[in-house]
Amino acid sequence: MKPTRNLRWLAVGMVLFLSLSTFLNLLLPAPVRSQSAVELAQANRLQLLAQGDQLWQEGNQEQAMAYYRQAKPSFPTPTRNSTVPEPIFEIEQLGGGQRLWENALDGITRDLDSKKFLYLQRLIKDYPQFIPAHLKLAEACLEDEEACERYLKDIDPTEIMEQVSELYPAEPEVIRTKVKILAAKKKYLEASIAARQFALILVDHPDAPEFAEMADEYMGRFLSDVKAQMIALGILQAITGGFGISQGDWAQGVSAINMIGLLLKGESAFGEQLANAEVEKLRSQGKLVENPELLNYIKGIGGRLEPYMGRDFDYEYYVVKDPDLNAFTFPGGKIFINTGAIKAINTQAELAGLIGHEIAHSVFSHTYETMVEEIVFQVIKDLLPKNTPISLDQILELGSKANSRAQEQQADILGTRVLNPAGYAADGLRNFMAIMAQREGNRATSWSDTHPASAERVTYLEKLIVDNDYNRYAYEGVSEHREINQII
Ligand SMILES: [Zn+2]
Repeated sequence: MKPTRNLRWLAVGMVLFLSLSTFLNLLLPAPVRSQSAVELAQANRLQLLAQGDQLWQEGNQEQAMAYYRQAKPSFPTPTRNSTVPEPIFEIEQLGGGQRLWENALDGITRDLDSKKFLYLQRLIKDYPQFIPAHLKLAEACLEDEEACERYLKDIDPTEIMEQVSELYPAEPEVIRTKVKILAAKKKYLEASIAARQFALILVDHPDAPEFAEMADEYMGRFLSDVKAQMIALGILQAITGGFGISQGDWAQGVSAINMIGLLLKGESAFGEQLANAEVEKLRSQGKLVENPELLNYIKGIGGRLEPYMGRDFDYEYYVVKDPDLNAFTFPGGKIFINTGAIKAINTQAELAGLIGHEIAHSVFSHTYETMVEEIVFQVIKDLLPKNTPISLDQILELGSKANSRAQEQQADILGTRVLNPAGYAADGLRNFMAIMAQREGNRATSWSDTHPASAERVTYLEKLIVDNDYNRYAYEGVSEHREINQII
């Protein structure tokens, strides 16, 4: 009996112990019980930001900034400096290269092709920072394509300007020559986009309005050029309007001619039709979020950014029920954000950064260009019979197709620059990228399939913010975002 009695007391003791420990556990503050050190640090950071937000909204910016500073340590100093040398324009700054330039000029004056092309080519290779050599070489190539091909082998003038404009995107002479050469090659859409980039990224530059005008002019020329080519192909009668995407087309497809007819209506009307098709598709799949509170929240953020994006589109915002951390855009300012992205984000400023990045893809015509290349150029090149049904599904997928590294950078620059004027902390997009970088360490997302490595972007966004003196210590919107995250 004794052992039984002992066991009984042991059981009573155990029950008492367990209930006591559960009771004590309940008394302890939640963070100590369930959060790791990293989560705790993050919670503290958000708490400080929320305190800053409250003061910010009360109009007490100075005190708010003190909280923001406490939550946000300075960015680490970049370990390596930019490898791009400062551009030079004067012969006197050329040092040892002066002799090359004199020889090149002599070749130009006396019209000696070999001398002209060989010395200019040497110059752009040895002194890439000497801008006049690039401009002269591109112009010489434009004047005499045959000689250019003979001496430069695989390089053409558009490539010359492409390379130099990647190094020096803020030099108006470089971009002006690039636009001129693209237009001379009848690449009107690219010419329009190159001009638009300058106008939107260097919005305060005195030449920005001239570039914006150029962008509109070449977009118009692109559309009439496509139309003219369609006339030449003998399908003008088909391009007289009445084009559209009707219900159910996304499943069956639209003819190539119909798609071109849509494109010719311009960027906005084209994007509108595609966005409607996407919405119809998402709704039929039960993936379209229609919660008015959430939609108003997203629309409100977009509305604050729009005046600074540089193009007057009919902006529309949609939320997709999808746990994948991603967002995508259609031409003419149609933005789609996944619930997975909204949920992973901590503050309204971070979401504003992501929305600004997506709007930027739209205002730079990135998606439009991709779609045009897939549709119009295929038809013009006669790779696609005019009546071939184009799968709308494939076209819609182009909305989330990978953009080039340069396009991503442009969208990051504009998406960051608009944050301060719209009333947000300037590191919203940078912090979103930091979340992405952390996730990429763990598992792949579709964003990481279509975008350059986020860790690398965090570094250059930090540099962009510091170099331009953008303010990181401004409104974050922690509580507003937390409330929204609770209803998703
Ligand atoms: Zn992007």
